[in-house]
Amino acid sequence: MADYILRGGTVVDGTGSPRFRADVAIWGDHITQIGAVARSAGAREIDAFGMVISPGFIDVHTHDDRALIATPEMAMKASQGVTTVVIGNCGVSLAPLVLDAAPPPPLDLLGDACDFRYRHFADYLATLDRTPPALNAVPLVGHSTLRVGTMSTLDRPAEALEITRMGERLEEALDAGAVGLSTGLYYTPAFHAPPAEIEALARLLRPAGAIYTSHMRDEGAGVLESLRETFAVGRNARVPVVISHHKTIGRENFGRTALTLQEIAAAMESQEIGLDAYPYSAGSSSLRPDMVALAENVLITWSKSVPEAAGRELAAIATDLGVTPEEAAERLQPAGAIYWVMDEADVDRVLAFPHTMIGSDGLPHDQHPHPRLWGTFPRVLGHYSRTRGLFSLEAAVRKMTGLSAARFGLSRRGVLAAGNYADVTLFDPLAIADRATFETPNLSAEGIAWVFVNGRPVWHDGEPTGERPGRVLRRQQMQVEVV
Ligand SMILES: [Zn+2]
Repeated sequence: MADYILRGGTVVDGTGSPRFRADVAIWGDHITQIGAVARSAGAREIDAFGMVISPGFIDVHTHDDRALIATPEMAMKASQGVTTVVIGNCGVSLAPLVLDAAPPPPLDLLGDACDFRYRHFADYLATLDRTPPALNAVPLVGHSTLRVGTMSTLDRPAEALEITRMGERLEEALDAGAVGLSTGLYYTPAFHAPPAEIEALARLLRPAGAIYTSHMRDEGAGVLESLRETFAVGRNARVPVVISHHKTIGRENFGRTALTLQEIAAAMESQEIGLDAYPYSAGSSSLRPDMVALAENVLITWSKSVPEAAGRELAAIATDLGVTPEEAAERLQPAGAIYWVMDEADVDRVLAFPHTMIGSDGLPHDQHPHPRLWGTFPRVLGHYSRTRGLFSLEAAVRKMTGLSAARFGLSRRGVLAAGNYADVTLFDPLAIADRATFETPNLSAEGIAWVFVNGRPVWHDGEPTGERPGRVLRRQQMQVEVV
């Protein structure tokens, strides 16, 4: 029995093993057979000759919490072959939090006050259950979200009672199905949280079998200290850690990923550590005047006070206004920006590190977003693997599938095997390429033919199919499924 038979493709199974020729049969929400599949009455045959059949890509670093509800077809991700997104990164999750005033940056990357309306984490997940998106969602709880919902002022460590309250909300979210806790210690709402506060919360992850992910306090001059702080949380709380969008920023820190990767590799000998990265030398986040001097160039992605600034360079805006770039950045607030702060050689080194997963860090609500939102996965496969030869196709696919599923405990996903969920991407290995650029960021990639989520097609030949078979991947369900 089969609903779909992908005929005569090249299977790259997500484990890093060499490719092989095979047919893949899908029935219901599962892969039923990989090999020479017999014809089956009623099955739709899809010619996969010359195409790669791979597991659907897992975007381990997203801010898609609200996009899953606002744009359930998730075209910016489905068009790249992505079938699962990890949400709630960098300390900011849409739940559990109810706001009646503007969210403090960077919570405003997710939405406005009216979008923060889920008092309980379970309420948010229930909304996804009721109106499912096209893709699967893996939820993290954000530490900054917990802080904003618990503390009256954020420029200080949490007091004992506040840590207790945050802990209760974290445990409630873990009970609802969250897979872990994220922090964004670099950002204002969490910068004053000392390691003791983070560890007190991270200790609650251990009994749940959940993980800790962190946008570290410092990715510049203090990056090594920040790595050690992150490792210590994992060691003391005895939980796996994931270092988010790993990089070293600012010209004086160019080249230092040679050191950071050594530190990470050494620490991996004694504790569980993962990391993710996006394939660009520019980052993007809220517009911060203190970031302006660090960057070679700054491009505005949105501005509430000067909407027409989106898509323009900060330097040009400053010239027009006759002020310094820092002053211009103040006048655009609240706003978002793209910062050129990395060295290409560092980007290469981090991407090529065998333990690095791919995460887009795309910002889906930006008016003029960083091209990583639409381009990340095809760029790794096209530019970095095929054109530049930084790693093999098999290694590239593993970084976006099998490795990621193992890190996040996504049972029966991330690897093509009979019995696994049919999250499958069919792409042309010679044509796959990102088209999104810094000038024109909202362009879908080339080379993705079919994308299946839980056995249903969500993307075919440049269009969403309209199907919405995505599921919330709750921690408990996945722990039960592990055999
Ligand atoms: Zn971040």
